[in-house]
Amino acid sequence: MGKVESFELDHTKVKAPYVRLITVEEGAKGDKISNFDLRLVQPNKNAIPTGGLHTIEHLLAGLLRDRIDGYIDCSPFGCRTGFHLLVWGNPSTTEVAKALKESLEEIRDNIQWKDVPGTTIESCGNYRDHSLFSAKQWSRDILAEGISDDPFERHVVEY
Ligand code: ZN
Repeated sequence: MGKVESFELDHTKVKAPYVRLITVEEGAKGDKISNFDLRLVQPNKNAIPTGGLHTIEHLLAGLLRDRIDGYIDCSPFGCRTGFHLLVWGNPSTTEVAKALKESLEEIRDNIQWKDVPGTTIESCGNYRDHSLFSAKQWSRDILAEGISDDPFERHVVEY
């Protein structure tokens, strides 16, 4: 099997919440795509339950798209400790961490149920499994820790 960078990372050495650049892939015509690790909770200590994670996923799809030029996709890790973010080009981890911080603040402070996209049987693959309450509580806890732009040393971003 091909080697996967994410499985080479020593998950006991990182200090979540953080943003980490995993790779920059370059296409045949020179276009670049960056892949980030958005780690919201500490691996093997914590995991966001599926309802809250699912609602955060639907919200980040819009909130991060509005804040990051070249946004492609943001998808949850199976371990439920964070997300992969794919972006055209090569923004800094600081820019991404600030965009993530703002997005989680929106979820914590302003988002209401009517603002959550894709919560119907037609628009989601598991529409019963959403929790805005959980999404807000986890966002609050993650923000209380602060989001670092370095995975190994706490370097929390401000505005
Ligand atoms: Zn869904």
